[in-house]
Amino acid sequence: MISCLQQDNVRLPEELNTTEPQRQALGSTLQSQLEGVEPKLSDQAQELNRLCSELGTTDLEKHLEILVLENDRLKQELNGCQLQLQQLRLSLSGCTGCQHSKENAQLREQTTDLQLELGEKTQLLAKLQQHLQDVLQDKTEREERLNKRIRDCHLALAKQPTSSVKYITKKVEVESPRTKQDLEETQGRNHYLQEQIVIQRRLLAEQEQQLQDSWRTSAQLQAQIMMYEAELERTRGELLEAFQAMEDEKNQAIEEVFLQARTEMKTVHENLNGVRMNLLSIQPALKTLTSDYNCLKNHARDFPCLLQDAVNQTKREIYQAVEEVQKTNQDLLRKYKREMQLRKKCHNELVRLRGNIRVLCRVRPVNQDDGTGLETRNIISFDSDDESVLYVSHRGKISMFELDKVFQPHAVQTDIFQEVQALITSCIDGYNVCIFAYGQTGSGKTYTMEGSPEDPGINQRALRLLFGEVAERSTDWDLTITVSMAEIYNETLRDLLGSDSQKIEDLTMRNLLAKDPNEKLEIKLSPDGSGQLYVPGLIQIRVQSVDDINKVFELGRVNRATDFTNVNERSSRSHALLIVSVSGINLTSGVRTTGKLNLVDLAGSERVGKSGAEGPRLREAQNINKSLLALGDVICALRSKQPYIPFRNSKLTYLLQDSLSGDSKTLMMVQVSPMEKNVNETVCSLKFAQRVRSVELGAVVRRAENHYSSRQDYELESPSQATQQGRFNISHSGGKTTAGKRRLMASGEVNHRQGSAALPAL
Ligand code: ADP
Ligand code: MG
Repeated sequence: MISCLQQDNVRLPEELNTTEPQRQALGSTLQSQLEGVEPKLSDQAQELNRLCSELGTTDLEKHLEILVLENDRLKQELNGCQLQLQQLRLSLSGCTGCQHSKENAQLREQTTDLQLELGEKTQLLAKLQQHLQDVLQDKTEREERLNKRIRDCHLALAKQPTSSVKYITKKVEVESPRTKQDLEETQGRNHYLQEQIVIQRRLLAEQEQQLQDSWRTSAQLQAQIMMYEAELERTRGELLEAFQAMEDEKNQAIEEVFLQARTEMKTVHENLNGVRMNLLSIQPALKTLTSDYNCLKNHARDFPCLLQDAVNQTKREIYQAVEEVQKTNQDLLRKYKREMQLRKKCHNELVRLRGNIRVLCRVRPVNQDDGTGLETRNIISFDSDDESVLYVSHRGKISMFELDKVFQPHAVQTDIFQEVQALITSCIDGYNVCIFAYGQTGSGKTYTMEGSPEDPGINQRALRLLFGEVAERSTDWDLTITVSMAEIYNETLRDLLGSDSQKIEDLTMRNLLAKDPNEKLEIKLSPDGSGQLYVPGLIQIRVQSVDDINKVFELGRVNRATDFTNVNERSSRSHALLIVSVSGINLTSGVRTTGKLNLVDLAGSERVGKSGAEGPRLREAQNINKSLLALGDVICALRSKQPYIPFRNSKLTYLLQDSLSGDSKTLMMVQVSPMEKNVNETVCSLKFAQRVRSVELGAVVRRAENHYSSRQDYELESPSQATQQGRFNISHSGGKTTAGKRRLMASGEVNHRQGSAALPAL
């Protein structure tokens, strides 16, 4: 190609030389054309540069930078304001609740609002900045595109003239028509270039239009920026105002606080002065206190030793006092024991003086069943000053009877029991006691002994009392109470607790209680050779509660009525015995005691002749009279200290031998009716009472099997004392006197059953 061109180059000058004038003319034309295009191109380039410089982002960027800087500065100012605000808050935190704090809170709220507003504006500004950057980027891209196109144009322009020149030159060199053709082509190209220039100009105009649009946009943005700046300025002004207000508020608050602090300071100063004065006055007291304290400190140091000494001393004194007290106690105990012995002796002496048989009289009231009329007239009167006498008006004369005590018709069961209860408790101490109810039928014997369920008599009250006593002594004594019930009818002893086996529902009780209710019991000598009497087969039931007693009494009552339709009829012809045995063992000393309480509801004492009875009724009456007479005889024999006591004359006296002999206590409750119709029997009963009242029994001795008792209150009288008095009998398992043996034998009569039965449900 190059060689071709070189050839052309060689050939063309030749051709050119040949067509010099044409060529020169054409050349000059083209040159002039080129010269015309070149300034235009340079103008366009200049215009382009100008446009570029005008479109340059420098101003906008600068403006943006200024805005950013201004924003930063505002932020810093805001931070400064916030710091000051915080400090102000801290300084004002002391006065809560005051007007300043309220205003402060309002200001704070306002500031918060402003901050929020500022935040919104800042966000808007950031958005605008972003938009501006986007526009600038778009503009830059467009500029680049324009520059590229301009460069392309330049290149195209640079290429076009050379080739056309070469072509024209070639054409001129080769052949003239060809040169013409080249010229035409060149002209065509020139035309094309001019078109291009037109296009370029149009594009330039478009670019200008776009530039103007950009300018407009830029102006709008600038206006917006200005607006935001104004807004920022306004916000800043508001913030400054708020800040100023807060500053003022703060200053005012500080001033107030300062004033308050000054006042307080003044008060504190005054107080301080007061305290100083006080301190000055206290100083001497402090000195005294210090010296006291030192003194006390010394004392405190010495205190343990002193305390120890004092404790030791006190201990010694206490030991001494305790020893003295112990000595005194022992002395007192000794004296007490002696006094107790003396009291016991006196009591026994009193009993002896009063007689071991106490005879009381109870006059029953007249009731509706007695009817009316002369026969029911009251023939008994009393002495209001002397409760031991009563007067009976009989056949026109008044007889006086003296007894130990007379209970008038209005006396109630408790009055009677109060009188006999000491006697009953003494059986726990080992004494044998016998209480008789004596009197004609209908005089109130059963009422006194048994009473009614609502108002019980001596029997039930005695057992209740014994239960109470047993419970009270349970810490020292193991006491057992057993009861037997027997009846003596026609000189026959019958067990009232035995029953037909068919009648006993409880199987365990059947073995115990089953027996012929009509079986005659015998009083026998004990086979052990002790000489004691006992009643084989007599049932003893252990009782522990009132329920038990009621069951036993009920059983006895039912059995007593076996053969008689009228219970009262039977009861009036037989002696009913409730035998209560109290045996005990002292838990510490081992002393054993046995006491027996015989509660006897005697048969009616009425005269046989009076009723004119015959046959069995006569026999009953004779037996009753015989036994009552025997009772009187025994008591009289005892009173007159006869060597022979006719205990064996009746079953009753034989059975009650141990309760009537010397070491026992006997109480005879003579029951009388106050009515005219009963006057003979009343007089007879009272005569019997007077007869037995003065009988003197031996001094009372407790029945103890172990003679070395440790309990003072149960100690026996000393043998020597008793012997001197001639009434004392020792009763223990060792050496028994004849009288003692006899007593124990008698007690054995009812204790024959080995192990008494506790009472289950009957
Ligand atoms: P006895 O047993 O001597 O035959 P009772 O005790 O059966 O006599 O008494 C006969 C009647 O007299 C009974 O109705 C009884 O209630 C009544 N009675 C006896 N003594 C009193 C008294 N102190 N108070 C009230 N009524 C009595
Ligand atoms: Mg009766």
